[in-house]
Amino acid sequence: MSVDKYEVIIGCEIHCQLLTKTKAFCSCENRYGGMPDTRVCPVCLGLPGAMPRISKGYVELGAVAGLALNCNIAEFTKFDRKHYFYPDLVKGYQITQYDVPLCTDGYVDLPENGSYKRVRIERIHLEEDVGKSLHLEGAHSYIDYNRSGTPLIEIVTKPDMNAPEEAALFMQTVQEILRYVRVTEGNLEEGNMRCDANINLKIWENGKEFRTPISEIKNLNSFRSIRDACSYEVKRQLAEFDTDRQEFVLGFKRTMGWDEVKGETVIQRTKNSFVDYRFTTEPDIKPFTVSRELVEEARKKVGELPEAKRQRLKKEYGLSDFDVQTLTSSRNLVLWFEEAAKKSKDPKKAANWILAELLAVLNEKEQDITEIAIKPDHIADLVNIVCAGTITSKQAKDVFAEMIATAKMPSEIVKEKGLAATTNTDEIAAFVKEVIAENPKAIADYKSGKSNVVGWLMGQVMKKSKGKATPATATKLLNEELAKL
Ligand code: ZN
Ligand code: MN
Repeated sequence: MSVDKYEVIIGCEIHCQLLTKTKAFCSCENRYGGMPDTRVCPVCLGLPGAMPRISKGYVELGAVAGLALNCNIAEFTKFDRKHYFYPDLVKGYQITQYDVPLCTDGYVDLPENGSYKRVRIERIHLEEDVGKSLHLEGAHSYIDYNRSGTPLIEIVTKPDMNAPEEAALFMQTVQEILRYVRVTEGNLEEGNMRCDANINLKIWENGKEFRTPISEIKNLNSFRSIRDACSYEVKRQLAEFDTDRQEFVLGFKRTMGWDEVKGETVIQRTKNSFVDYRFTTEPDIKPFTVSRELVEEARKKVGELPEAKRQRLKKEYGLSDFDVQTLTSSRNLVLWFEEAAKKSKDPKKAANWILAELLAVLNEKEQDITEIAIKPDHIADLVNIVCAGTITSKQAKDVFAEMIATAKMPSEIVKEKGLAATTNTDEIAAFVKEVIAENPKAIADYKSGKSNVVGWLMGQVMKKSKGKATPATATKLLNEELAKL
């Protein structure tokens, strides 16, 4: 092969299901699964005479997505019909947006090597989903129309990605943002988000520049399949360029699928002619203005995005990358943390309690942070009584367990159980003397220079006090006693 060098060019189209209560243009419930054809009506079955109406919240959710991805929101927009034939498309056309999309000119910054790579978004438009074909092996094919007419946005990027990993990271970043602003469930396995990747290569050979024909790989529904399918296409296109110049020169855009089992892309069709979708303005829905109030409402719902939040939390609270990543894994969790942090004398400690202890409890109970009985105030109270020296960190663990079990406030638990740590010097000094008297071997070791027994002796003092001794006082007294020996 005499290829000097090549560059990978990838652009994505992401279809994403929105979290409206009803379908896009009718009042059928918008939900995944269930018995086939149980959530259908004349509108989403495309029966003649049925009139579509834009569902409440549909345009606003689209605007939320657009603003979260830094787009401009159109002041005036419309729906269009896109005609084609396919069994899962009941009406013979899809209601979509053609020349006046709701959102344009956005971008997403992908974190890459300590900096950011910007991927531009050309447009985001609203459209309806189609039914779902079920091909049963050795039997018939069926179509479930529950999905027909559910609201989607389609996000179209510029061809700004230059590696398969980048395309996967793009999908991941968009998923995080759109989940965060509660536009979508973002569940890839349930097809809430599906990615089509357009990929080709720029190749330099003997000083000349070539471009391979674009492959559009359809319906990639995991980060891994995006990465693997694109990696496979890079190799396949390079090999094709090398062996078949003739076909290459005549190359048309190809539509491909990804066979996950074989790990290969499969040609579905070659677009060797212009496909006429016969776009026309949807006559049953009037073009409409997007009110500035709607856009302002949408802007409020976007709020601070996850990456900005991570950077701020790192700076404000001195948390690690890993910690902020975990805390921002869900919007509910990070808002909960921020409330606890605000009320805590030591916000970093509040983060530690949540990350190390509370998440383990949630995991075990398979609960979300919003489902648990304790509130951010509980964690703040716990942090504050430890900071004040009312209880020791060791006691705090027991108080935490009790708090989870009863949802009582930590200070209340301390009062009830008489747990308050003792700073009573005489009492602790007595424990220290007892420990020294009871452990002649350790003391002998200490005298012969093994200073690491001090930690062990400290442990014995704490044990004797049943965890009630404040470690600072105990350490001080123990060292004083040892110095006298
Ligand atoms: Zn319906
Ligand atoms: Mn589409």
